[in-house]
Amino acid sequence: MSQPSPAWFQIANPVARIAKTVTIIGAGIAGCTLAAALKKRGYNVTVIDRHATAGQEASGNAQGIVYPKLSHRDDLLPRINLAAIHFASHYYQSFWNSGLGSQCGVVVVPENQKIRDDCILIGERFVDQPGLVEAITREHLEALSGIPLHAEIALHFPSLGWLPPAQVCQQLLLDNQIPLLQADVAELQYRESENSWQLLDDQQQTVAISETLVIANAFDCKQFIQTRYLPLRKLRGQITQLPATAQSSKIKKVICGEGYITPATNGSHSCGATYNKDLFTTELREQDHRANIAQMAATDSGLAAALGEPDLQQLTGRANFRCTTSDYLPISGPVPDIPAMLEDYAALRRDAKTVIETPGRYLPNLFVNCGMGSRGLSYAPLTAELLACQIDNQAPPLEPVLCQAMHPVRFLIRDLKRNRI
Ligand SMILES: Cc1cc2nc3c(=O)[nH]c(=O)nc-3n(C[C@H](O)[C@H](O)[C@H](O)COP(=O)(O)OP(=O)(O)OC[C@H]3O[C@@H](n4cnc5c(N)ncnc54)[C@H](O)[C@@H]3O)c2cc1C
Repeated sequence: MSQPSPAWFQIANPVARIAKTVTIIGAGIAGCTLAAALKKRGYNVTVIDRHATAGQEASGNAQGIVYPKLSHRDDLLPRINLAAIHFASHYYQSFWNSGLGSQCGVVVVPENQKIRDDCILIGERFVDQPGLVEAITREHLEALSGIPLHAEIALHFPSLGWLPPAQVCQQLLLDNQIPLLQADVAELQYRESENSWQLLDDQQQTVAISETLVIANAFDCKQFIQTRYLPLRKLRGQITQLPATAQSSKIKKVICGEGYITPATNGSHSCGATYNKDLFTTELREQDHRANIAQMAATDSGLAAALGEPDLQQLTGRANFRCTTSDYLPISGPVPDIPAMLEDYAALRRDAKTVIETPGRYLPNLFVNCGMGSRGLSYAPLTAELLACQIDNQAPPLEPVLCQAMHPVRFLIRDLKRNRI
């Protein structure tokens, strides 16, 4: 039998909305998928971004992979990932059909013995779902991937692939006639008399006023006092565009392992990505190109042979920042009223098991959708759908326990229970 939901997930103080109008800060994949999901429900949506065009920051790489993170275990992360890739593979169908990116399939090559064992167990667990994932042995890998790979076993996800994220963002806004307003939002103030959020720039000029507001600006939501508490990290990554060789041009699938490589498009492969924690530059670094090439070689010696020895001086690429969370899950839902929550749930500090029946207090009609980590293309369509359901008072298409695992309040409750806040 399922446990009753803890009271902090219920909203004690909902403020009735008059207009079906929503403003979203951030025109990356998180903001644009949400904008489209709300527009489809009849909302009047405006997206605000500091750039004039959508998809200019993390969601701006040439090729992004819809990649999986399954497990043979029933943990929350792989369950959410499974729901996300399932949803995403349908969501992107129209983009793939229109020629954006490719649903070429994703092959995951295990990079060590443990992952190899996991692959076997995952293959066994999903044996009745070959449309989702199938375990492939070496003798079939070459025909599938296009080049000789040396892995003994790999997982193939036939319904996944790659997309150009910025074009997807732009298409979502265009197809749904959603305006993009260029402004750098510095501060959010709630105007009680009008039940509205006022968005201000750094000159204290009003950028917009909106009854319902969604913060979808990745790590930069830390600049707003309302979402500063979120334990986010800004994690730099660089991809390398590798010139295709005669052999590597035969690659038919996205191949992932230590890193990933896409099939060649316009004569080059996207290959990545690095993880640099304390580096905050978007300048390309030769050492990161080297690291990406080394990752490919570590993934499979067959890949290294196909790619040859690229001239480091000629390589191009792109660097930007992921917004990651401590539990590797995205954040999607209403923004808690921190001082009120700290007061209402103070007893958790003394005893984490205290049962408190007081529902949670939340900021009026303020939501957040961020923390997509390395898998924004996989997670964003699902979190957008969940949040749109929540804003529109519909039942979400996901079990409550999974929605709660992505809820913005989870960090606050966790810290209270650990007596850290
Ligand atoms: C090198 C690299 C490779 C990656 N590869 C993959 C991959 O293969 N597959 C995958 O799924 N994911 C990948 N990711 C992760 C993926 O890019 C992110 O998860 C995703 O793009 C996050 O989307 P977002 O909308 O949350 O953030 P963003 O795309 O960064 O969007 C946030 C937007 O908010 C705007 N903004 C910020 N602050 C303000 C403000 N104050 N006012 C107005 N606007 C503001 C920004 O301009 C930006 O457009 C990769 C990331 C990197 C860095």
